[in-house]
Amino acid sequence: MSNKAARFETVCVHAGRKIDPATGAVAPPIHLSTTFERSPDYSPEGYVYSRSGNPNRAELEACLAALEGGAEAVAFSSGSAAAAAVFQSLKPGDHAVVSRDAYHGVLRILREVMTGWKLGVSYVDTTDLAAVKAAFTPATRLLWVESPSNPLLKITDLAAAADLARRAGVLAVCDSTFATPALQNPLAFGMDLVMHSATKYLGGHSDVVGGALVAREAGPGTERLRFLQGTLGAVPAPFDCWLILRGTATLNVRVLAQSANALALARHLEMHPKVEQVFYPGLESHPQHALAKRQMRGFGAMLSFCVRGGEQAAVRAASRVKLFTRATSLGGVESLIEHRASVEGPESPTPKNLLRVSAGLEHVDDLIQDIDQALA
Ligand SMILES: *Cc1c(COP(=O)(O)O)cnc(C)c1O
Repeated sequence: MSNKAARFETVCVHAGRKIDPATGAVAPPIHLSTTFERSPDYSPEGYVYSRSGNPNRAELEACLAALEGGAEAVAFSSGSAAAAAVFQSLKPGDHAVVSRDAYHGVLRILREVMTGWKLGVSYVDTTDLAAVKAAFTPATRLLWVESPSNPLLKITDLAAAADLARRAGVLAVCDSTFATPALQNPLAFGMDLVMHSATKYLGGHSDVVGGALVAREAGPGTERLRFLQGTLGAVPAPFDCWLILRGTATLNVRVLAQSANALALARHLEMHPKVEQVFYPGLESHPQHALAKRQMRGFGAMLSFCVRGGEQAAVRAASRVKLFTRATSLGGVESLIEHRASVEGPESPTPKNLLRVSAGLEHVDDLIQDIDQALA
């Protein structure tokens, strides 16, 4: 985009897009070709083979870099593949400090794949910066935080965490999937990389799996990630890139409207006699509410709550919803509810009576009515 000072709403609509010079098409064409004709002298310019580069992926990456205010984005076939690329960019014997509250699939990569890589990992509560600092060793190369976290919506102080990492010469990465670039830009707080599961709000319609890393600065680190993307080949298909790019056009309006619904739901549930506790950073009762207010432009569309009466009562409530869909994932236009411990499996540290909600775009009164009849 030529207009560098464009505001976020404008970036959502225009970044990465241009009128197709061949046809004048306003919506970008999808380039399915796996291979591209080389110039007679085999100059390294342009596209060669679709695993290493594709026009639709380049458009998506340009858009995501602009949305996060980063130098470069690297797109992957899923959020998990994006996370794995960060870990694989480390060397055997390196050490990582990782949020104990990180996405369970990210923790599974570390526990069940990266241990074979001989990556040392310390799991800490990254809301406790003294604990983060204490966990750093001379071998530490990576700090992985997730904010807001899943499913307890804990908020990590991104500027302070990035500062600790910078002083220790450690790469700071934030999984910002729950916040989306509409509500939080971790790179602006000094994080080196931001990771997104594009499956969620970026795609926004529960119809595409994808992931991305956006780097504050281009350099040897991004070159290594780009190398891993093309070499290991966990790349998004052209149509997937097209769908995610289409989703980003409405990102801002969707996320703001869905966040407003989440706040209203959280306020309602906090007063509900059948509800023990609500986890939502927009509530004054949230322990990091002031921090969330400082580092986010809104509080997001995810919330969790504990149902009075234990696991059975929670599962029963989830079984009775009519408008909410009982499904995992998040970030689509339809509201979802799930019994998180069942999804995470027997080792899940999540409270057994916790339900997680992804607030959609329905009228909030209909959502409240549905939750009330389910809890009744
Ligand atoms: C979904 C999710 C992931 C994993 O992304 P996939 O696209 O499912 O591989 C990582 N982090 C968070 C916070 C998520 O919600």
